[in-house]
Amino acid sequence: TAPMRISILGATGSIGTSTIDLVRRAPKRYAVQAISANSNASGLAQIARELRAGFAAVADPKAYRALKAELSGSGIEAAAGPEAVSEAGARDADWVMAAISGASGLEPTLAAVKRGRKVALANKECLVCAGTLFMRTAAEHGATILPADSEHNAIAQAMGAGSREDVRKITVTASGGPFRTFTKEQLKAVTREQALKHPNYAMGAKITVDSSTMMNKGLELIEAHHLFDAPPEMLDAVVHPQQAIHGMVEFRDGSLVAAMATPDMRLPIAHCLAWPDRITDAAEPLDLARIGTLTFETPDTDRFPCLKLARQAMEAGKGAPTVLNAANEIAVAAFLAGGLSYLGIPLLVAAALDAAAQRGLMHEPSSVSDALEIDRAARSLAAELLPEIAA
Ligand code: NDP
Ligand code: MG
Repeated sequence: TAPMRISILGATGSIGTSTIDLVRRAPKRYAVQAISANSNASGLAQIARELRAGFAAVADPKAYRALKAELSGSGIEAAAGPEAVSEAGARDADWVMAAISGASGLEPTLAAVKRGRKVALANKECLVCAGTLFMRTAAEHGATILPADSEHNAIAQAMGAGSREDVRKITVTASGGPFRTFTKEQLKAVTREQALKHPNYAMGAKITVDSSTMMNKGLELIEAHHLFDAPPEMLDAVVHPQQAIHGMVEFRDGSLVAAMATPDMRLPIAHCLAWPDRITDAAEPLDLARIGTLTFETPDTDRFPCLKLARQAMEAGKGAPTVLNAANEIAVAAFLAGGLSYLGIPLLVAAALDAAAQRGLMHEPSSVSDALEIDRAARSLAAELLPEIAA
C-alpha cells in the first residue's frame, strides 16, 4: 500500500517529538509532506533530513537563513513567515498533526482543515479562540478532527461505547498539577521553576504553567464543548492525581465509561495516527495493580480561579473564550518572563475579561480575521492592564 502522507505542525515541540517518535518506528508507512516550527531552524532541519520531508517552514523570518543553510543540498524546500507555516498546513496530506502552541496555531490548522482530510488536534487554543468557526469550517470541508489531547481522546474512545444521543455527562480528569495541595499562602510564592515542573508529563512551557493554574482544564472544557458539541452543563472536571483515567462519559442509564491509559502522549497521538485502526505497542500499558489506588477530588476553584474563569467564559460565549485565551497567553508569558507573580495570572485574565466587556469587545467571531482581531485587541488590553496588576 502507498505510504500515508502526513504533515506535522509544531514538529520541534513536545507533541511534535512524540509524533515523530511514532513515525520513526515505521518510516516506510509514512511520507512526510511538510513540517513547521517557530524559530528552531536547526531542530527543524534535522527532523526534515531524517524524515525526508518535502517542505520545512519556520514562522520567524529571522530563522530563514539558518534553515536554508542547514537544508542546502538536501532538496528539501525551505520557507519562513506565518504564511509559510500556513502553507505547510495546506500541503496535500492525508493526515496533519496540529501541534503549534497558542492561538498562532489557528490559521495553519485551518489551512489543514480546509484540505478536508484528517487533522489530529493538539492545539486546543485554536478551539478556544474560534471554536464555533473552526468546527463549522471542518464540517464544510468534510475534515475529520481527531482529538489528540489525552482527555478528549479518552472521551472519544469512551463515547464509542454508546450512542451520542444517550450521553448525559462528559468528564475530563485533571492531575491537579504540582500545587494541588498548596495553600493560598503557598501559591503566592510560586516561582517559575516550580511551575515548570509537571508531575506526570514533560510538556511545552505554556501548557505546563496552564496545568499548574488549572487554566489547562478550563481550556479543555471549552475544547470539549466544541469537539463534542456538548452544552456547558454537560461538562465537568475532576481531579484525579494518578492520571490513570483521562476521560469519562456518563450515559443516561447511569452507566459510566472511563477510558484509561498510561499518561504518555504517544497513546492518544497513536490513536489519531492509526485511526480507525490501532498501532501495536504505542506505549506501555497501564499496570493497575502497581498503581493500587485511584482517587478523585472536586477541583478547588477558590485556590485555582482560572478554572472558574474559563467555565464562565464558556457559558458567556460571544468572544469571551477568545479574550480569556489571549489574556492567559499574555499572563503566562509575563509570568515566565518574571514580570507577573503566579497569582497575578488569574487576576490579569479576570481584569482583561471585565475590561473587554466594558469596551464592547465581546462578540462571536464571524470569521478568522475577526477572531484574530478580538485576539489582538485582548492581548493589547492585557498588556495595558499588566503593570497595574503586577504592582
Ligand atoms: P511546545 O512549546 O513544546 O511546542 C510548540 C511547537 O509550536 C514548537 O514546534 C514551536 O516551534 C511551534 N510554535 C510556537 N509558536 C509558534 C508560532 N507562532 N508559529 C508557528 N509555530 C510555533 O508545545 P507542546 O508540544 O507542549 O504543545 C503544543 C500544543 O499541544 C499546545 O496547544 C498544547 O496545549 C497542546 N497539548 C500539549 C500536550 C503535551 O503533552 N505537551 C498535551 C495536550 C495538548 P519552536 O520549537 O521553533 O519554538
Ligand atoms: Mg490534556
